[in-house]
Amino acid sequence: ATFEELGLPVELLQGVYSMKFSKPSKVQAVSLPMILAAPPRNLIAQAHNGSGKTACFVLGMLSRVDTTKDVPQALCLVPTRELARQIRDVIMNLGKYTGCRVYLAVKQGEEERSQPRVTSIRDHIIVGTPGRVMDLLRHRVFSGKTIRILVLDEADEMIDTQGMGDQTLRIKKLLSPDVQTLLFSATYPDHVRDFALKVVPNANQITV
Ligand code: AMP
Repeated sequence: ATFEELGLPVELLQGVYSMKFSKPSKVQAVSLPMILAAPPRNLIAQAHNGSGKTACFVLGMLSRVDTTKDVPQALCLVPTRELARQIRDVIMNLGKYTGCRVYLAVKQGEEERSQPRVTSIRDHIIVGTPGRVMDLLRHRVFSGKTIRILVLDEADEMIDTQGMGDQTLRIKKLLSPDVQTLLFSATYPDHVRDFALKVVPNANQITV
């Protein structure tokens, strides 16, 4: 398959070309048709680092965002600040022709005040850790009701980190019931499967 055949909008194809990806990786070829489908489908994917999984959910989020509306429409939860930053960078690269803006929702260390405190997030995509995202929802800095797509990356790591699984379930309850949900995990033992089936209803499942 080619990226053209996957039905990506032209501004996302330009983003893909700018990254010098010549053809979709296996996980991209299998998951992108489901992720981009209308009506949207939910997905549970077991895929390792290096498979190209990040571009799958980043293109999914970018394709669901309407940049004429200045409210958050995509939410990506990850286990660490570093991963949140990396994903923010991939969104900015693949999305550079879309006008999409990203908010990084991570607890800020004493040494770091890179983002001013906001009272209302107007960016289209939020990437962050469950604890910080829950704080922002609790303080109504953004509303879960405008989120159209939820991504959980490194779900196995999140569940194994104290409190993050529960926080993720609590966040999910604050979103619209029909939010498109994509879960990615490198490993898929029973406790991850139980969590995945709870948070991602009616999912298509793939293993790469
Ligand atoms: P990931 O598995 O998402 O961590 O991606 C691993 C690496 O593969 C990253 O450096 C990506 O930039 C790169 N990559 C992702 N998709 C493709 C592709 N279709 N062709 C070539 N490289 C890719």
